[in-house]
Amino acid sequence: MLDTRPLLEETDFPRIFRGKLSILQVNLGYLCNLSCVHCHVNAGPKRTELMSRETIDQVLAFIDKKDIKVLDLTGGAPEMNPEFRYLVTEARKRNVEVIDRCNLTILNEPGYEDLAQFLADQQVIVTASLPCYSEQNVEQQRGKGVFAESIQALQKLNSLGYGQEDSGLQLNLVYNPGGPFLPPSQAMLQADYQRELSDAYGIVFNELLTITNMPISRFGSILISKGQFEDYMQLLKDNFSEQNLAGVMCRSLISIDWQGRVFDCDFNQMLHMPLIASDRPETYLSELLDTDLEGDEIVIGEHCYGCTAGQGSSCGGALAE
Ligand code: SF4
Ligand code: SF4
Repeated sequence: MLDTRPLLEETDFPRIFRGKLSILQVNLGYLCNLSCVHCHVNAGPKRTELMSRETIDQVLAFIDKKDIKVLDLTGGAPEMNPEFRYLVTEARKRNVEVIDRCNLTILNEPGYEDLAQFLADQQVIVTASLPCYSEQNVEQQRGKGVFAESIQALQKLNSLGYGQEDSGLQLNLVYNPGGPFLPPSQAMLQADYQRELSDAYGIVFNELLTITNMPISRFGSILISKGQFEDYMQLLKDNFSEQNLAGVMCRSLISIDWQGRVFDCDFNQMLHMPLIASDRPETYLSELLDTDLEGDEIVIGEHCYGCTAGQGSSCGGALAE
């Protein structure tokens, strides 16, 4: 795979500083039942990196000490980490909102038949990738058979109350473009998704989050090999919107990798760009229990233009709408 980091390090992106920390984004490992083309962590069924119970206990200690309100779980397929249910249960006991970044198909895998019920029992917010409401587009990105399995999983979640009015069980879908272009308007696309999924499959959900593809990892490598990297970077820069700077996700979260190392965001994690505030190449979560991170400068690169282009992009979707 081609490395885009050397192309991203030097940047004229404006300097940004962290505000109050409220979200902990934790990558539980790179093991996944899928291997999607756009995957920015190069996850897949052969990856063996998984967060240990010891590190998970450090995450819980950090939550306790720092009054973290939201735990955002990513992977890979975070549910494939054997400690997933322990972490979720412990976080919910502390009244922390838990988001599961779910690829949907995991809900149908052998051994995971009761996963959807577990998520519902714990009132976990399910944020699920569904890059399109059309079968062809989904399968181009995620592989054959993934669309039908995703629909089946969404119907299962709906039957448990997810996405249904007044159930308290939130189901969000995530769209990302199938190539080197910016996402369309989040509000308009949400209306399209709602209509199409309801008409064809009777599926309901709460919100659609549109996310811009980052020119890193597998997607970045594809851009380079197709000679599209520079054009895509130019597109991101040409659409820079200053008003999105205040809402970029690194201002309110930190990202933890499967070994407990801390980064300003998931993308910096993938690029192995350590925190600036630390003068060491690696900082572990357990070392930050007594450190106030507010006001720290954030490590930036050319990829940051992916967060500010057009309507903006974050783990919570568009910034400007
Ligand atoms: S489901 Fe998500 S983590 Fe797994 S390969 Fe696809 S994009 Fe990567
Ligand atoms: S890529 Fe990361 S560091 Fe850069 S603006 Fe986006 S969230 Fe912040």
